[in-house]
Amino acid sequence: MIDHYWPNGELLYEISPCFSKISVFMFFLVFQVVKGQNVWEKSGKFEGDIILRRSRNVMENSDRYWPNGELPYEIASNFNKSEKSIILSTLEFLANKTCLKPVSPREEHEGSILFTGEPGHGCSSTIGYWRKKNQKIYLDRDFGCLDFGTILHEVLHVLGFWHQHSAKDRDKYIEIVLDNVQKGLEYNFNKATHKTDSFGFDYDYESIMHYSAFAFSRNGRKTIIPKRTVRQGLPMGQRKELSEIDILKINKMYNCTPNVEVADDNAKFYRVKVIRIK
Ligand SMILES: [Zn+2]
Repeated sequence: MIDHYWPNGELLYEISPCFSKISVFMFFLVFQVVKGQNVWEKSGKFEGDIILRRSRNVMENSDRYWPNGELPYEIASNFNKSEKSIILSTLEFLANKTCLKPVSPREEHEGSILFTGEPGHGCSSTIGYWRKKNQKIYLDRDFGCLDFGTILHEVLHVLGFWHQHSAKDRDKYIEIVLDNVQKGLEYNFNKATHKTDSFGFDYDYESIMHYSAFAFSRNGRKTIIPKRTVRQGLPMGQRKELSEIDILKINKMYNCTPNVEVADDNAKFYRVKVIRIK
């Protein structure tokens, strides 16, 4: 029944004017999910959602980690109550999984995070700690950024994470199919030239910092293909939660002592306990 498939994977559609603006936006989101594309891949920044600053050498440089694992943050008034509560529950989740401490800014804090919904920046952020007040994490509601996984992804950038798929050694683990990438957007698949650290952990297909198999696809075909067997865990490009390696990396960067207990063979994830050591 191949002749009943849409030619070239193109879905030609129109939306009747009888739907409200919000319904039209929901249709748009559904198409993104069908394509397996993350909203942050559409923000138009470097690698989709990274706002570049002077240096790309962040992960290796502990000056770019938030001092004492404290994350002073404020939430701009351009979010509504339910949007604020998603941001707060994301930070609470992070605090429960790691030893990071989201706090209200105090006088002695040289840097702080500002979650802002101002339009024009999609879902985007800078990488690491910049020792400045109101370092912005942009979460534009019209891009669908007010989502638990998307907020977590952006917060991990601010903690010092680059994308997993741009790691220097990524060619051992994934194939990038440039023929399937939208013209002019190939730079999203450049390999890192900066020094990054994997902290001794494996390449992480399950990371919330990995892009989806169809990222920036021009034809509905895969742009990222794993070269190794991927275990039946979180799907590549997932934006639902932190992978166990994401959690372990954060804890290593921020001097927490993870006490990893491997649950029984049938359990999906490790249980990770965290103890601050300084
Ligand atoms: Zn990103």
